[in-house]
Order: sequence, then C-alpha cells, then structure tokens
Amino acid sequence: MKPKSLQELYLEQLRDLYDAEQQIIKALPEMIEASASEDLKEGLTEHLEVTKGQVTRLQQIFTALGEKAKGEKCLGIEGVIDEGSNLIDGIDDPAVRDAAIIASAQRVEHYEIAGYGTTRTFATLLDDEGASKLLQQTLDEEREADQTLTALAEEVNVKATKGKSVAGEKSEKPRKARIA
Ligand code: FE
Ligand code: ZN
Ligand code: FE
Repeated sequence: MKPKSLQELYLEQLRDLYDAEQQIIKALPEMIEASASEDLKEGLTEHLEVTKGQVTRLQQIFTALGEKAKGEKCLGIEGVIDEGSNLIDGIDDPAVRDAAIIASAQRVEHYEIAGYGTTRTFATLLDDEGASKLLQQTLDEEREADQTLTALAEEVNVKATKGKSVAGEKSEKPRKARIA
C-alpha cells in the first residue's frame, strides 16, 4: 500500500530498514569469511554484533507504535549487497579482495546512513521522541562503522598496490598472463 501520510511513510521506511538490517546480517558472515586482514575481519565481526542491536532497536520502535515488527523488502540494499558479493567472488589477490570488501561495505553503510538520517528526521517531525533517539543511536553507529572502514582502507588499499606496478612506477616483475 502506498503511504498516504508522513506517518505511513515513516512506518514504510522503518519496515524498509528492518528488512535491510536482516539482509546485512545474512551477508556479513560471507564478507568476514572472505577477508584476509585480521583487522578487517574484526571490524566486520564487531559491526555484525552492533547490527543485531540495531534490529532490536527497530523492534522496540514497532512495539511502541503498536505495530508488528515486519520488514518490507529493501530492493536497494539487495542490489548493493549483490553487487558487492559478485565483485568479491572472483578476486584472488587477498589485498585486492579486501579493498573490494571495504568498497562494498562502505556502500552498505552509506545506504544505511541515508535511510536512518531520513527516518530519524521523520520521527522528530512526528513527535516520536523515543524513536528519534533510538534511530540517532543507530545512525551514529553506522557513521562510526564507515569511519572504521575508511581507516582500514588506508592500510589495506596500500597493501593492494604492492606486487603490482603502482601508477608512475615501473614494476620489476614482468606482467603475468591473465588466466581465464
Ligand atoms: Fe545497520
Ligand atoms: Zn530500501
Ligand atoms: Fe551498518
């Protein structure tokens, strides 16, 4: 059903976030498994735990609204996750794969930041103060996750340039023929 009021749009956005978080909980273990860097593994594992708490917050909001905690398929995050997992799949170089994992994970975080920012603002406008606070907490966590990933990218992306010719430098090894 199409939302007919801001209240209904707010509820729709909450359902979208609820489904998105569940998709992320399903996707993260695969990304953790594929990570070579211990720091990256740790960062993603920690965010998986944080994400479970974010689901709980959404459930609290649904309960306070007298609504069933029910998701509505988030096609956006599905696309972001699919694209990331397709990309990561075929990469053999561990450092390059890690760089791809971070690239994909940051897209996920930015998508969430957009969703939580909007929904938090709706909550404030609709005088749902309790929800506004809970959504702000999650928004802060998503921003923190994004910053952690940026810091990790600084070490991982540098590693990914090793062994291959860096722009402006000559590689000492001859280029390997591309297999398959
Ligand atoms: Fe989240
Ligand atoms: Zn969505
Ligand atoms: Fe997140």
